[in-house]
Amino acid sequence: MRKIIHCDCDCFFAAVEMRDNPEYRDIPLAVGGRSDRRGVIATCNYKARAFGVRSAMATAYALKLCPTLTVIPGQMEKYRQVSRQIMQIYREVTDNIEPLSLDEAYLDVSDSELFQGSATRIAEMLRCRVSEVTGITISAGVAPNKFLAKVASDWNKPDGLCVIRPDQVEEFVENLAVKKLHGVGSKTAEKLEVMGVTTCADLKKLSRVHLAEHFGRFGERLFELSRGVDNRAVVTQRVRKSISVEHTFSKDLKTIEESLSHIPELYLELQRRFSQLPGDRAIQGIFVKLKFNDFTQTTIEHRSTVHDESLYSGLMKQGYQRGNKPVRLLGLGFRLDNRETEALQQLSLWP
Ligand SMILES: [Mg+2]
Repeated sequence: MRKIIHCDCDCFFAAVEMRDNPEYRDIPLAVGGRSDRRGVIATCNYKARAFGVRSAMATAYALKLCPTLTVIPGQMEKYRQVSRQIMQIYREVTDNIEPLSLDEAYLDVSDSELFQGSATRIAEMLRCRVSEVTGITISAGVAPNKFLAKVASDWNKPDGLCVIRPDQVEEFVENLAVKKLHGVGSKTAEKLEVMGVTTCADLKKLSRVHLAEHFGRFGERLFELSRGVDNRAVVTQRVRKSISVEHTFSKDLKTIEESLSHIPELYLELQRRFSQLPGDRAIQGIFVKLKFNDFTQTTIEHRSTVHDESLYSGLMKQGYQRGNKPVRLLGLGFRLDNRETEALQQLSLWP
């Protein structure tokens, strides 16, 4: 039995802006694109939500719903920085973290010994810490699996906590509307409603075969979700897209010849690391990175399923010409072909 916490910041981008600008705190506020440029709302605060404003809504439409809405452009770098701070707090508790976006993550605390293994108290502690350190509130859901933890974090939003204990799963899920299930969009919800299904209790009455007939493979998933079953693991490492080695030289490399002379050792190390990747991996491209002594940098790529030293020499010459000044760092890499890995991952065969 797993113990999963889903942490989700409350109206994240808007919350950061309200934290830093007191004048935004008591007015309907949204971070998003301009209405005259067909912009959309990225996030809005709760004052704006009261007017029906939602994320992904066209800004022009949002302004119709809420004429007093203040729409400001986002400062992504700032949000990234706050996000890093928050993820760092999560990391104090566990390394088993799966970030879903800048402001959302799953934590698997099954093996944690903090608070005698009480996931509820760990979640409370995380909520306090994040608010103390960053001034941003988060909502947390605690449950035996990812699906329920995510539903739970939304339950008492904002600044809330919701715990679904294993013995509460059955009752909780039976009362859950099917549109709350991951993957059930408005179309599927409509289709289900026609079949007389609005809650998971209704859904549970349908057989596996019946669901498969109507929804194909997703029918199987619906069968499980309606019983509160979700065996997906918290995936800490996303599929690796590339692998590279790089070296910063204590003395700048003054000529192209000097740079080329380092290819053999870097290439050897790259192949060594590549051979240590799990599974049989194929490459779909190679690249060279150069950083010059003025800290400008350039990357030269070449699509290829094969690799050898001469290909790297060619790329390095091209890269060197772009800067034509002393080099402080050289890197060689492979772009990985992930089609097979991604397919395996979808079938949950990948760790
Ligand atoms: Mg959020």
